[in-house]
Amino acid sequence: MNPLIELKAISKIYTMGRNIQIQAIKNINLSVHAGEFVAISGPSGSGKTTLLNLIGLIDVPTSGTIALDGKIISYNGLAQLHRLRLNTIGFIFQSFNLIPVLSAYENVEYPLLLTDLSASERKKRVEQVLAEVGLSALADHKPRELSGGQCQRVAIARALVNKPKIVLADEPTANLDSKTAQDILQLMAKLNQDEQVTFIFSTHDPQVVKLARRIIQLRDGSIESITGAATSSSSEQTAEVTLTEPQQTASKGRQSWRKNRSTTRKN
Ligand code: ADP
Ligand code: MG
Repeated sequence: MNPLIELKAISKIYTMGRNIQIQAIKNINLSVHAGEFVAISGPSGSGKTTLLNLIGLIDVPTSGTIALDGKIISYNGLAQLHRLRLNTIGFIFQSFNLIPVLSAYENVEYPLLLTDLSASERKKRVEQVLAEVGLSALADHKPRELSGGQCQRVAIARALVNKPKIVLADEPTANLDSKTAQDILQLMAKLNQDEQVTFIFSTHDPQVVKLARRIIQLRDGSIESITGAATSSSSEQTAEVTLTEPQQTASKGRQSWRKNRSTTRKN
């Protein structure tokens, strides 16, 4: 089976002015399989955001190839790339990036306005993901009426509402206190397990990094070490998954809204 994400010899050089070049990512090879829960760890400036932006098709590598589901990404067709991103990838950011004038419900619904879904289907989806992140009762609240942890739950719901295969989270807990950070990570781990969404998140918090099944340690744009195995979660697996456990396949009988993905999404 193809990895869900495969980076081959990826480099990213930022050019500033005429003579200054910064190599933010240096020759990275990395495969991530469907259902994984992966942390990208490393000090500030080590390339975490750049790597996530490359995986998320927000940024273009200077050299190397990225394949999603075995298909090498071409950076020529921007509209096609945009559609692929919309259908495949959800993003969660450190500073939540919610729209302040919209309610929690409207923030989550926002990405669906770019799809062909009917109003009733949109409502169903939004209510479902808000329930999954435990925010049904606060759907009408604006971001300023919510705590940091609640805002990040809204952002998680928004990232999931399009039923992406991959959720990328750039330091999702950096603006939260440690208890709330743990809660948010546990919610992400639960969604990873229940919905088989692949999560890749960056962090430099050792408490948060511990919750990942595989930890990719970056230093100066290179992979310094990888800890743990490429383990996908499944509903049969328990929370005591060990880092060395062999890869599991997804359960057949899982009851999940993701099962309906191919029938409800119009491409
Ligand atoms: P991290 O997220 O781990 O802090 P980044 O990916 O943001 O690391 O940055 C990696 C390196 O690339 C740093 O040296 C940073 O200054 C540089 N960098 C990041 N984005 C840009 C940019 N848009 N232009 C120029 N340099 C950048
Ligand atoms: Mg960063």
